[in-house]
Amino acid sequence: FMLMLTYYGHSCLLLDDGAHKVLTDPFLTGNPTAAITADAVAADTILLSHAHGDHFGDAQAIAERTGAEVVGVPEVLGLLRLPGAKLHGMNLCGTLVLAFGSMRMVLARHSSGVAGGCACGYIIRMGGKTVYFAGDTAIFSDMRFLGERDAIDYALLPIGDNYTMGPEDAALAAKWLGAKHVIPIHYNTWPVIAQDPEEFKKLCEAASDAKVSIVQPGASLELA
Ligand code: ZN
Repeated sequence: FMLMLTYYGHSCLLLDDGAHKVLTDPFLTGNPTAAITADAVAADTILLSHAHGDHFGDAQAIAERTGAEVVGVPEVLGLLRLPGAKLHGMNLCGTLVLAFGSMRMVLARHSSGVAGGCACGYIIRMGGKTVYFAGDTAIFSDMRFLGERDAIDYALLPIGDNYTMGPEDAALAAKWLGAKHVIPIHYNTWPVIAQDPEEFKKLCEAASDAKVSIVQPGASLELA
């Protein structure tokens, strides 16, 4: 297996195993760091972590154009207006088995952006790897449980602070998760979430057993 991750900026990234394309939180229009446009990005499956504009983003337009299946909690999917769309509502701790592998919707500590909804993350099994996409979240002690439940190869963790955990908490999260690798996301999109990823790398590698890979918007990394 070869699993490629391409980072499009903020919390938008693509996991591609050569046959299936999973896109997360497709905020591209209006994202100053976006490395692709909403009318060019590919997707078979779109994972939504919550309804804030910088995550829900271009989900409607991309799903309409690509016919991708959109996964999220029902309250978030309820914001989409897609006639005949492939929507898959699920909730925390649910597992969805798809052609490329499976994904589990997991807790995030963050507001949902829509009444009655909750924010979530995903643990994705694809291409022989287990990838934790944390979405927007504070650190929470049940990250230890996530690491106990699934051996996490790659954790994609927000480090921006202000709206999510910052570098120190994300470094501790990496330890609690027992992640083998960490890729920082959700930083440097705007001044309010400015962070030095090299500083985070030092902090995280000192606090945990994780190796940190910094992926710039537009760059890809093979998840080996
Ligand atoms: Zn948010």
